[in-house]
Amino acid sequence: MTLQKNYQPDDFHCLSNQILLYTSCCERRIEFVKEVTKLLHSFTGCDIVELWIMKDGNPNLIEKAKISRGSFTFNESRIGSQEKDQITNRKHGDSDLSNLSRGILLGHYNPTLPLFTKKGSFFTCNTDKPCRISFILEDKTHDVNLDISGEYKSIAIIPLVIDNKKVGILHLMSSQNNFFTKDEIELFERTILTLSSALLNQLNQEALSERVKELTCLYRIAKIAEQTNGTLDGIFHEIIKLLPPAWQYPEVTCGRIIFDGRSYSTKKYKVFSDKMAADIIVTGRKRGLVEVIYLEKMNEFDEGPFLQEERSLLNTIAENIALIVERKEASEERLKLQIQLRHADRLATIGQLAAGVAHELNEPLGNILGLAQLANKYPDLPKQIEQDLNKIIAVSLDAREIIRQLMVFARQKIPEKTTVNLNQIVNEGLVFFESRCRKEGIELVRLLSSDLPEIIADRSQIHQVLVNLITNAIQAMPKGGVLTIQTEVGENHVSLIVEDTGTGISDEAKKQMFIPFFTTKEIGQGTGIGLSVVHGVIMSHNGMIKVESKLGIGARFEVQLPLNDESDK
Ligand code: ADP
Repeated sequence: MTLQKNYQPDDFHCLSNQILLYTSCCERRIEFVKEVTKLLHSFTGCDIVELWIMKDGNPNLIEKAKISRGSFTFNESRIGSQEKDQITNRKHGDSDLSNLSRGILLGHYNPTLPLFTKKGSFFTCNTDKPCRISFILEDKTHDVNLDISGEYKSIAIIPLVIDNKKVGILHLMSSQNNFFTKDEIELFERTILTLSSALLNQLNQEALSERVKELTCLYRIAKIAEQTNGTLDGIFHEIIKLLPPAWQYPEVTCGRIIFDGRSYSTKKYKVFSDKMAADIIVTGRKRGLVEVIYLEKMNEFDEGPFLQEERSLLNTIAENIALIVERKEASEERLKLQIQLRHADRLATIGQLAAGVAHELNEPLGNILGLAQLANKYPDLPKQIEQDLNKIIAVSLDAREIIRQLMVFARQKIPEKTTVNLNQIVNEGLVFFESRCRKEGIELVRLLSSDLPEIIADRSQIHQVLVNLITNAIQAMPKGGVLTIQTEVGENHVSLIVEDTGTGISDEAKKQMFIPFFTTKEIGQGTGIGLSVVHGVIMSHNGMIKVESKLGIGARFEVQLPLNDESDK
């Protein structure tokens, strides 16, 4: 099939219609370009049909679709600006034909010469004949004899024009002489108008569908961000699934989020050179990154295989992830504070109650004890009465001790603060426990800081804290274990750490253990007062207490006491 077969205007009509049909049935531009190039190839019977399409209106960046003897190629290339040297001296190694094409695309030629049609298409039916072209560069005309002779004897270069702007060119080449007529080239020019607007439409549609995909991705991320009950792990897994569909080639796209050293990726993820990444920066600190890779080598664009829009999309996704993390962590922090506040509130209420009860009981108890002690002094008391009086005295003393501790918890007893050395308190306190530990198969480890500064504190109250924590630790190791007592100096505090390898504390007990009378121990073993006293003392020293524990592994209590207690001043 050649053009010399006398194509009628109607045939060109059909060609235009077929091109329009491809616009609606080819989803991707590359498919459309391929089908159109194939169509033009079979319609014209040329050896080569090549389409140059400008990318984003940039005449230096073009997509080239070519059909040469049945095989189709598609790539991007930069054509660069055209220098005078390239046309007049031709030093740059470009062939005269590619210089001519470039000149036509960039508009650097004078189209009034016989080799051009009125609409500016170039064509020759015998490339062996001299081809004299006038190029206009820097407002000067350069007449040049181009040598485009070679395998192809008939060549046509037809600009693709929309609104008087060139958007590309079409090359038709045949090895036969006199392959085209001027009329046919002019008919082509009309058909090419359809092709130009179809291409523009395709470009716009493709850009639009890319934007829709990006917006859908961002919308879904925003929806995920609204979920208040999801964990960050779950959120990352959901976001990662949204990445491939938002990219140009979803089938070969994989995504990965790395956050705080943990990695979340789509199924087929593997390390590949074609990737883009954006940092996840939460409140000014880089915590991870979000990454997109292509599993195959894809066409290279201006900045690699990814679109500029995809780069900004990834940055926006990283920013969104950072915001989600920020919000999530802030709300978790808020919740923690609320729980702590509620806990502190509860302790304060119980403290007031306990103080009131203690106060009320203190006096009658004092009377009972005093009278029992007085009665016990009578000579010649019957044995039974003496025994009973001794019992009353012992029980009253126990009760008085509980009341004393309750008053410490309720901070009814004002601490008598002096300069104290924590190491000294520990060493003195441990004397009472050494033999008990030995008997119960407990190894006592002492790790006391050698340069521990002195603090201002109530010596007997700190002693009480140590005794209560050690008593609990020993009771938690009925089958022996290791008890470690440690002192440490921090930035603004000193620490007393009591650690055991005992039963550990359940989550339920952890929530309640500072409440007076909460105990998990048998009657006679525990009163549930020990830790509430510790709490009271620490609070009246403006310190804090940290508890870590795992069931079956042990427990660690760290008491921090401030170096410069503001309340001492
Ligand atoms: P008591 O020791 O009289 O029960 P506390 O207020 O000292 O009262 O402790 C309250 C509860 O906290 C204990 O009953 C126990 O369940 C838990 N507990 C405290 N310290 C430890 C520890 N070192 N190991 C395991 N559980 C502990």
